[in-house]
Amino acid sequence: MANVEIKYTKLFINNEWVDAVSKKTFPTINPQDESVIIQVAEGDKADVDKAVEAAVKAFQRYSEWRTMDASQRGRLLLKLADLVERDYKYLGDLETLDCGKPVEQAKTEVLWTTTILRYYAGKADKILGNTIPADGEVLSFTMKDPVGVCGQILPWNYPIPMFVWKIAPALAAGCTIVLKPAEQTPLTALAMAALIKEAGFPPGVVNVIPGYGPTAGAALTNHPKVDKVAFTGSTEVGRIIMSAAAAVNLKRVTLELGGKSPLVIFNDADVEKAANIAHRAAFANAGQCCVAGTRTYVQSGIYDKFVAKATEIAKKRTVGNPYTDVQQGPQIDTEMFNKVLGYIEAGKKEGAKCVAGGGRFGNVGYFIQPTVFADVKDDMKIAREEIFGPVQSILKFETFEEIVDRANDSNYGLGAGVITNDITTALAFIKHVRAGTVWVNTYEHVVAQTPFGGFRESGIGRELGEDGIQQYLETKTVTMELPKKPLL
Ligand code: ADP
Repeated sequence: MANVEIKYTKLFINNEWVDAVSKKTFPTINPQDESVIIQVAEGDKADVDKAVEAAVKAFQRYSEWRTMDASQRGRLLLKLADLVERDYKYLGDLETLDCGKPVEQAKTEVLWTTTILRYYAGKADKILGNTIPADGEVLSFTMKDPVGVCGQILPWNYPIPMFVWKIAPALAAGCTIVLKPAEQTPLTALAMAALIKEAGFPPGVVNVIPGYGPTAGAALTNHPKVDKVAFTGSTEVGRIIMSAAAAVNLKRVTLELGGKSPLVIFNDADVEKAANIAHRAAFANAGQCCVAGTRTYVQSGIYDKFVAKATEIAKKRTVGNPYTDVQQGPQIDTEMFNKVLGYIEAGKKEGAKCVAGGGRFGNVGYFIQPTVFADVKDDMKIAREEIFGPVQSILKFETFEEIVDRANDSNYGLGAGVITNDITTALAFIKHVRAGTVWVNTYEHVVAQTPFGGFRESGIGRELGEDGIQQYLETKTVTMELPKKPLL
């Protein structure tokens, strides 16, 4: 285990570090060796109430935050980006400690988040309404107001990137925030909170409450003074959040949920290149990625060659101590570890051909062998359900018409990919596939400027890009009567 200093373990409310009202703490676990890293203050309803009160106060009419120039909000975000850049090595080390991803990957992700902070910094003073040629003797225009107090609930797979995806557009829009990191990964959210304070954001604008979903998370979702909740996580919890939001105060909801994304490879593809793209699509972040391309459909003409190549690449994938030069660390926790192994067993039982991996890696920590199944059939569990682990399912297809229907035969619709050199095939696929993002001859290229989110049960709303900030704005229509005749 690397020697990473942990500076913050308390709740962050009103720019202060405080214990939980209950004084309770919970352990955060190192997935590499299953040891307790440290105890963290455990937020619950009473703490969420305090944090929401702080966020409501920071959002009041004449508060420092509400009267700040929009350009100044942008400058604070730029300052935060500079601080993240200054501390990226430390933040990367801490991220790896808490979630087990390879440390170079963690550092790259931290640096990547500065592009998102800077993108939204630039948007802060470019939030525009319209003037509208309305019927009648009137002048009409729209203004964009911040939604208000936002509850933001994060997953554990990309803790710092998810933190930034959530806060950057909300702050650019002028909202205030109560954020709950995932219980598995509270440490970097607290380190980011310290940087928010250092950047100069006024007290109460961002509050961070570590804790569990059914307690702290539910308190946030059920709070009548929270105007919006933004959530990334499982479809199952997404449903709970949407029902609670509807029941309490019809708070606005954006949800980024699960996926079972298809990646379709046509006969004309370069097999080696396609196998490498498909490998990264399935195995990035140890498969713990909502948009992972886990259904690899390969056209029959290159199927056997492709399976051989995909197997070879997976067998070479390096797994182990995430502080060393490996491609894959452990899964996040014992629950996910067992769940993924359960899917691997289901794949074997249902008759898929396991051509690489197929079990635990080592005997300490939550490591799993990169696993490839060939000859997978559409109705198998591993082809239908989100596994969230290092498991690739390869399926064979014959024709374009057949594959579009099969790719769309899922309740999800987060991502999709196509690999072909034929522009007509690519365009037809783009047109007919039902997914929030379609990648052509690449996969998982996600940047600040492009909206990200899902069709169907993969979610509601979009993050990143212009769409991302619109989710934190309300449209206010203004209509004014015009003078009927000259005033002279
Ligand atoms: P996963 O299954 O991948 O752990 P979850 O959807 O369970 O993902 O968790 C994602 C986030 O949602 C975490 O921060 C978790 O604490 C939170 N959460 C879980 N249950 C609830 C709930 N009932 N209400 C609000 N938040 C919840």
